[in-house]
Formats: sequence, C-alpha cells, structure tokens
Amino acid sequence: MLGLMQSQPLLTASLIRHAERHHGDGEVISRRVEGDIHRTRYREVAARARQVAQALDALGLAGGDRVATLAWNGYRHLELYYGVSGSGRVLHTLNPRVHPDQLVWMANHAHDKVLCFDLSFLPIVQAVHRRCTSIAHFVVLCDSNKVPAGSGIPGLQSYERWIAPHPTDYEWPVLDEHAASSMCYTSGTTGDPKAVVYSHRSTVLHALSSALPDALNLSARDCVMPVVPMFHVHAWGLPYAAVLTGAKLVFPGPAMDGKSLHDLMEAEQVTLAAGVPTVWHMLLSYLHTHQLRLRSLRRAVIGGAPCSPAMLAAFRVDHGVEVVHAWGMTEMSPLGTVSAPKHKHLAWPDADQARLTLTQGRAVFGVDMKIVDEQDAELPWDGVQAGELMVRGPWVLCDYYRDPGVSPVTDGWFRTGDVATIDADGFMRIMDRRKDIIKSGGEWISSIDIENVAQGHPAVGQAACIGVPHPKWNERPILVVVLTPGCQASRDDILAYFDGKAPKWQVPDDVVFVASIPVSGTGKMQKATLRDQLKGYRLPGT
Ligand code: ADP
Repeated sequence: MLGLMQSQPLLTASLIRHAERHHGDGEVISRRVEGDIHRTRYREVAARARQVAQALDALGLAGGDRVATLAWNGYRHLELYYGVSGSGRVLHTLNPRVHPDQLVWMANHAHDKVLCFDLSFLPIVQAVHRRCTSIAHFVVLCDSNKVPAGSGIPGLQSYERWIAPHPTDYEWPVLDEHAASSMCYTSGTTGDPKAVVYSHRSTVLHALSSALPDALNLSARDCVMPVVPMFHVHAWGLPYAAVLTGAKLVFPGPAMDGKSLHDLMEAEQVTLAAGVPTVWHMLLSYLHTHQLRLRSLRRAVIGGAPCSPAMLAAFRVDHGVEVVHAWGMTEMSPLGTVSAPKHKHLAWPDADQARLTLTQGRAVFGVDMKIVDEQDAELPWDGVQAGELMVRGPWVLCDYYRDPGVSPVTDGWFRTGDVATIDADGFMRIMDRRKDIIKSGGEWISSIDIENVAQGHPAVGQAACIGVPHPKWNERPILVVVLTPGCQASRDDILAYFDGKAPKWQVPDDVVFVASIPVSGTGKMQKATLRDQLKGYRLPGT
C-alpha cells in the first residue's frame, strides 16, 4: 500500500520561493566589494534569481552545465546560488584563495561554461582566463559602468547588464531531485583537489536538518551572518538554511577583520554568526584590545577546526554568547555533528557543560556515524577508545566526481580521515586528523589537546602542535607558537604552563617561536606546510 501524500521533488528553488511568499520583505544586507552597504529583500533576490535563470537560458546553457563563481558573500552571489541551480544548471563555487594553477585545474576538471566573479578578483581572472578552456562567458558582479575598459577578457560584461533584459517572471522547472545542484572542491592538501557534487535533494534535506534547534537553531527571528565564505562548502549551507527559515541575512563581503565584522554585527543586530576559529580569533582580539562588547550576538557557530577552551571562555564569559561547536566536512555538505546539550546536562556545573561544548557533539538527524579500529571493526561508544570516524547519510557523498582513485566509501560508510571517540550519550570528540596525530612510544598524542592547553596561556596568540622524528620514541610533539602582540614568554614559561594540564609524557619537548603559522584557503592551520618549513629542525639533545 502506498501513502496518499503528494509527491513533490525536493528542489533548491522551493527555498527561495518560500522565502519570497512568506518573508518577502525579509532583509538581505551585504557589504560590497565596492565598499558600501547594500540592502535588499527576499522578494527582490527571488526576482533577480529568476532573471539569472533566463540569462543562462539566453546563453544556450543546457541542464547540468556548470556555472562557476569566484565571489565573496553577498546578495549577487545568493541570486546566483538560486538562479543557477533552480534553472537546472550546476553552481560551482571556486575558492579564490587557492593557487591560480589549481583554479585553472578545477575549472577545467568541472568543465565550467560560465564564470561570474567579483570585481576584486579581476586580476586573478585576467591571469587565468586563457587557460580555462571550457569557459565561454565571463560576467563581473557589478554595475555596467564599473566594468574596467581593456580588461583583456573576451566578451566581459557586467552582471547587471547581463540580467537586466530578462523578465522577473519565470517558472522554476520541475527537476529530478537527485539532479546535481552544486559542486565544491576539497582543499587537496595532497594531490589534486577532489570534487564533491551535491544534489537538490541532499541540499534541501541538509538545510532542514541544519535549521533544527539542536543544530544551528535558525528561525525567522534571527539575523544570520555567514562569515564562513560562500566558496567554502556553501558557507556551511547557511544560504539555504537561513532562506528556508526566512531569517534576516547579513553578508560581510570581503571585510573579515575584527572591526568590520563588529561594526556590521552591531549595526544590523546580528544574532547568529558562523565562522572558523581563525576568524573568531581576530574578532575576539579586536574586541579585547578596544574593550568592546557584542550586544546583539546570541550564538556563535564555530567549526572547520576545533574550538579551544580559551575561545569558548571568551565567548561565554566575556560576551555572554552561546557557542555552537559544529563538525563537518565538504564531503558532508558539511554538517555532521553539533555540541548541543541534552536536558539532563542543564543541571551540570558550568565547567562540565563547557567540557561538553568542546566536544564536536552529537550527530544531527540524517547523519549516522561509527568509529572503527584498523581492521574496520566497530569500537564501543565509551568516550575512551579512539578509532577512525565513518559516516553515512543522505547528504554524505557516495563518490568524488571524475576521480579515478580508490572509493572513499566502504560498505556505504564514508571514511572521514578523522580519529575520534564517541561517548555513551553520542558525543563525538575529534582527537586529530589521522595524518596529524603524533605517535610517541606506541601511544597517540592528540595535537588538538596540546594546542587547546597552549592557547590558554595569555602570551600565546596561536599554537600548532606537530610531531617531529625522535630516535627512541618514533615521534615527539613540539609546539609552534605565535606570541600575542605585545606579550613575551620564554620556551620554559610555556612548557611550565602544561604542569597539571596534560599528562607529563604528552607535554611538548620544545617550543619554536614563529611570526605566523601558514593557513589554508579555508582558514585552517596547514600542518603539512609547517612540517616542511621545519624540516631542518632537530629536537634538543637528539
Ligand atoms: P570544513 O572546513 O568546512 O569542515 P573541510 O572538508 O575543508 O570542510 O574539512 C573537514 C575537516 O576539518 C574535518 O575532517 C576535520 O578534520 C576538520 N574539522 C571540521 N570541523 C571541526 C571541528 N569542529 N573540530 C575539529 N576538527 C574539525
């Protein structure tokens, strides 16, 4: 017997259609690359997304053709999110921070037909466009009077002129919900980047689940600021989940320094913002230096890398902001787990609740996870035994696009490459990336645990823990430190700080002071590069 419910495919266009009908006057605010603050509403975003769809029709693009973007967070990028996917094409968000050679590789691998880019990325596009052999149309996201003359890019036209001739009425096509809606490349720390292709169905289900109270807890009463870029796993799906709820959206554009973020948050009364720890670190330092407060922010979503105890305390204690610690991956759209307490935890003392928030949290509905040993046998959820984390679910990839390598999925489970424990309540704690874990005398040392301790030292601005070869122990940890501006601390001061905070055998053998730690295009510490930079380093006494 079949159910007697209507069968409607889950399509991304339904999100913007809903926002237009039910939250038409909902605001979308953007700091533009032009420098000004732009204000629009969902009704207008939806209308212009339909113009984008017809502009793509006019170019003769077929269903499934790829349309790339090279753009910051802003309303035009949002219109492209919906106009491209809603009309049956595939949105490919390129990351402008990767090396130009990699950009070319990705555009060619995806076979992009159109590239829409922010004016500030003109020099990159000028440098690479000849090598992007499949791209036939270049659109710059600005007014027609801002298009630079003599750019050397054939047929370059402004976004505004491109969409202007097209009417705002257009019926979104009824597509197969399993059809591709967008794609992203992983950062590719080793070898070529890998492409993850999302479907309409996976995107809508991910948006529904991310909005839930124990996930990002989004509603029409919120004002949401995705600080995480729209080229980094679709700003963690916020341009879909926030639109689904009708929340006010605030886009910071290219300005992600502490002052710009704080000014915009206060002016627009942002209640929820999401970003990686490096961005939060910049904001918190700025607030500390200038003795400023976050008056409207209620929740800070921290993900992409672990939230340290020092960062948690700064948000909770100094600013009264709740931290929503989330874990995910490009391959998972990206949301996997969120550190949301359960009813029984509310009676716990503050320190224990804080410890819970520092775990990567529980699986959101839709994501199933397990940890396995070297033989892929499942390990118990006792909060102690650590193994490789595997996940499955309707927004977890089943394969990379056009990748001849070994399948990332075993018996339906995707190998995350993260080593984790899971406790009896289902709270998962990432120990490390498998490749970053330090193997010392047959035991594992979590570089994340060591960094978390170090970051509590007031003179430590940033800390990275890496393993270096040791003749007896195989590897020993060392700490690479960037001092907080204006602060001083010696190697011995920092090592003494570990007393009672980490087991003695896990305390780093040495501290190396550096001016900066390399970060990736998605704002994460690049430990592989750091290890390369310290190749000539020898541990004291070896
Ligand atoms: P994203 O940066 O959006 O999470 P990536 O695919 O670039 O996506 O990186 C995924 C990896 O980042 C994870 O496998 C994990 O190692 C790390 N990561 C993500 N979130 C966290 C977190 N909250 N704590 C620790 N590591 C995290």
